Amino acid sequence: MSTVEKIKRNLKHIDLSNPDFIKNPHKYLTFFSEELKKLSPTLYSKLKDILSEDKPDISAIERILHETNIMISGNTSINDGFDKLTVSIDYLDGVGSKTASTLKKHGIKEIQDILLHFPFKYEVVDTDFSSDKILIHGKLLNKSIIRTKYGKSIFQASFQTDGGFYYAIWFNFSNKYPGPLLKEGEEYTLFGKYTRFNGKPAAVHPRFVDKSERGTVKTYYSLPSNIKNLSFVKIVKNAFVYIGNNIVETLPEQILIKYNYPNIKKALQTIHFPESVRDVNLLNSAKHPAFIRFVYEELFYLQLGMLIKKLNYNKVFGIKYNIKNEFLEQIKSYVPFKLTRGQKRALADIFNDMKSDYQMNRLLQGDVGSGKTVVAFIAAVAAVLNGYQVAIIAPTEVLAEQHYVNLLNFLKGDFSTVLLTGSTSKKEKDESRVFIENGNVDFIVGTHSIIRDEITFKNLGLAIIDEQHRFGVMQRKALVDKGYNPDILLMTATPIPRTLALTLYGDLNISIIDEMPPGRTPVETRAFPSSDFQTVLNYVENELKKGNRAYFVYPLIDESEKMNLKDATRNFEIISERLAKYRVGLLHGKMKSEEKNRLMKDFRSGRIDVLVSTTVIEVGVDVPDATVMVIENAERFGLSQLHQLRGRVGRSAKKSYCFLIYSDNISEDGKKRIDAMVSSNDGFKLSEVDLEIRGPGDFFGTRQSGLPEFRFSNILRDVKILNNARRDAEEILKEDPLLEKPKHLVLKEMLHFKWKHNLDLTGIG
Ligand code: ADP
Ligand code: MG
Repeated sequence: MSTVEKIKRNLKHIDLSNPDFIKNPHKYLTFFSEELKKLSPTLYSKLKDILSEDKPDISAIERILHETNIMISGNTSINDGFDKLTVSIDYLDGVGSKTASTLKKHGIKEIQDILLHFPFKYEVVDTDFSSDKILIHGKLLNKSIIRTKYGKSIFQASFQTDGGFYYAIWFNFSNKYPGPLLKEGEEYTLFGKYTRFNGKPAAVHPRFVDKSERGTVKTYYSLPSNIKNLSFVKIVKNAFVYIGNNIVETLPEQILIKYNYPNIKKALQTIHFPESVRDVNLLNSAKHPAFIRFVYEELFYLQLGMLIKKLNYNKVFGIKYNIKNEFLEQIKSYVPFKLTRGQKRALADIFNDMKSDYQMNRLLQGDVGSGKTVVAFIAAVAAVLNGYQVAIIAPTEVLAEQHYVNLLNFLKGDFSTVLLTGSTSKKEKDESRVFIENGNVDFIVGTHSIIRDEITFKNLGLAIIDEQHRFGVMQRKALVDKGYNPDILLMTATPIPRTLALTLYGDLNISIIDEMPPGRTPVETRAFPSSDFQTVLNYVENELKKGNRAYFVYPLIDESEKMNLKDATRNFEIISERLAKYRVGLLHGKMKSEEKNRLMKDFRSGRIDVLVSTTVIEVGVDVPDATVMVIENAERFGLSQLHQLRGRVGRSAKKSYCFLIYSDNISEDGKKRIDAMVSSNDGFKLSEVDLEIRGPGDFFGTRQSGLPEFRFSNILRDVKILNNARRDAEEILKEDPLLEKPKHLVLKEMLHFKWKHNLDLTGIG
């Protein structure tokens, strides 16, 4: 007897009006709940919770029974279906142990992996002019090698078919192929690319096919080299037989209806075994509804998972800060300028989060130089005035040091502050550790050291994470776990296109600062070939004369033999010589950090006029008097990196310049990047260009961000579907936040099935 049948029989015996049942439901539900566990772990665990109460809620039990009823009335249980999908491929007919192990290495481990391993190309073995294919079936009249007037040899064969006279031609041939395979007077079926030859229709390099193949569709799978395409087609067929009627629909019916998507079984069948030319053409262009439903499904469950995560975050109880007016007055005295509207808006969002009962999880996005830091500092002071400690963590020592210096200036000596980085001495660290633990310091600024070292906070209330994408999910978590649900403010200066923001940060609340502080003139950006270096130096000297400062940035530290890249060390000497009247400093990542800090300090104060550097200065460094950024071998840098580097200048009312110097062997993409830089100062626009140049896979290291990889969708191509999926997921959660309605049961099961390892789904059980 199947689980479903057992449950059905059991349900018949449960009588909710029986007074003994009400008194003692466990007694009646033991067997039922054992079976339910197999059918739906979700319902089972709910039931278990209900039964663990002193006085189980009978109406809650009734709801479970009701949901169970609905589930089994469809006859296939979702979980039975899932169970079959996750069976190992070893159990499949036609899959021997060798094949199985090869496929497994290729990532095809379970039945579902076979079903979801889609062909990458389809071909109808027949004449189809829309895809330039021709099928020739007829008698060989003649074969010969001819020479063209350009002196090339061509192997030609002519055929008499029902439809007239056809040619097949080969530019590459040998005395083994195809000559000996063709005998005059015999019948052949050939299939290949259509062309015209001697005024007749012809096939170029056709392959020999069997007569019976005519009209069939050939599917091409990407496979390990020792697995033949045809064997895999058979394996797919067997998988369909194995799974039978157990393919469970994975999208809610209302969605299928809304978009007119085929059901999952039909869709899979079409994808693996399409029948019509129309299907084939749509599949080849990734436009078939059978395929699109999987794109949708992938994006939909990702969005649903993210939104649930977001709802959960917003439900975690946290610190309820009191943002008193007197605090605001006090904070105002620290801020040396008038905040922009964008900053005010972001701050309002942050204060709202801080004042609420729930934990803040907010991402502050804004272009380089838009003034995120001060917003974070204000929030930090508010937290400290409430009696909490604040941690500010940055990805590099230079940046941490800078935040520390800025913070000290900002606070004008009020409050106590420590800096903790990899190069803080052990003695200092030990001292700080005690202070942090006792609550004697308010602000702790630093790098990963704050997370790594044995630092215990007295009462961490706000964690600020700068350049958050440089930190892994676990590192963030480790920091946050040092407090009791502290508020979290993430910052990023990497503007990303909205579509990508949805998939990457869909679980966070986002505030965007979309304007620059007043009085900024956009940085003037110009590109030069390396032969024009002297011209650039003249410009630089001009700026230095005015008392301004300049950066020179290089992709590498030391001379590299393999790549002819400018290197900072060697060029430091050249530039020192050329700009002999000025003080030139060299900064690179291999230096001791005291040295680095001293250099940065000197540059900031004007003791150094020119800083020759590798990309250590890339993020966040803020020296308002620097007005020139020279980037050599600019073609080697990514677009967002270039934009970040450019963001080091133009940080005051003075006019600033960015000179991009490119070498002779610049690639097409390199040119595109430099053009984009010259024509735009808008980080969001540049990030869109970047996404286009690099493609979505590469763009943001999706892998490191902890997201599942996309199998069917492509963020560039599928923006519309993504937006639909997002909206649908939002609507569903609005109607049914806990996904309790029977019609949404499939969603809950699917989330567990799909993302159980990736998403924290504690909220929905
Ligand atoms: P980012 O967003 O890149 O972190 P910063 O916070 O480093 O930007 O700010 C860039 C510069 O602009 C800093 O020198 C900062 O003091 C200054 N700044 C920030 N906000 C304002 C403002 N509202 N008015 C004037 N200057 C500002
Ligand atoms: Mg910053």
